[in-house]
Amino acid sequence: MDLNNLRETGNYDDRRGEGGMGGFGGPSWGGGFGGFPAFGLRGGGLGFIAFVILMLLFGANGSGGLLDSVFNGGGQQQIAQSDTHSDDAQLEFARKIVGSAEDVWTPILQARGITFSPATITFYTDATQTGCGLGQAAAGPFYCPNDSRIYLDLSFFNQLADQFGAPGQFAQAYVIAHEYGHHIQNLIGTMNQQESALQGSGARGATGASVRLELQADCYAGVWTYHANQRFHILQQGDVEGGLRAASAVGDDTLQKEGQGYAVPDSFTHGTSAQRMRWFQRGLARGEISDCDTFGASAL
Ligand SMILES: [Zn+2]
Repeated sequence: MDLNNLRETGNYDDRRGEGGMGGFGGPSWGGGFGGFPAFGLRGGGLGFIAFVILMLLFGANGSGGLLDSVFNGGGQQQIAQSDTHSDDAQLEFARKIVGSAEDVWTPILQARGITFSPATITFYTDATQTGCGLGQAAAGPFYCPNDSRIYLDLSFFNQLADQFGAPGQFAQAYVIAHEYGHHIQNLIGTMNQQESALQGSGARGATGASVRLELQADCYAGVWTYHANQRFHILQQGDVEGGLRAASAVGDDTLQKEGQGYAVPDSFTHGTSAQRMRWFQRGLARGEISDCDTFGASAL
């Protein structure tokens, strides 16, 4: 990737090294999602809703322990302690991706009469309080609609390269762009519109609301890629392939096969590897969010 034309966002919160239970800033309910309650994670039921909304990158079952659990909290803005962290380069990289997401999405939403407000990318280590509960790094990166924050433990990028076989900056950019896609869904109102579907019995499964929400976030990641490249010339040879490798690596079928040896489509929450690549490419082809109507699509 060529990052030279990207600006680092100021909408970030560096909680690295604070420890898991730090950062209480009082409850921050009632954001864009009507105040989602605290969710436990495993075991279906209400916990599943937490999967749908919070577990943004990974499927739940058999995915090698990539589960999250969450409850309520807030957090204060912190000044980055740049000298004390070895992964500052990764933090700056992530801030650039988010900065470009702000630049790309502002006019796209404006054209639809929607006022853009930025998400805050929150860097943490191991665990942190979120507006959706306790966020844990083992869950992978996630977005909380209640506080409009993306939560990222930067060590995930090492996991992405080593465990998931998706190295390279653009694979990492895809992850962040996918999470930002959830923020866009929140701003557009898709999450609220789909709230009942996401909470109903039809949420899960290969054509359920969860998969549709996730594939749309993949498509939005493609839309971001298209426009970021048009405006900031970010793409270099091999980048798109690196993003596709990441999209493929986190498909439900792939994760389940690796975790338990077989895939169970009824339990899918994020879509197959082929679907995730396809919707990313669909967004990338023209940069049109109207191409990302996974909820209206008869075939995913
Ligand atoms: Zn997601």
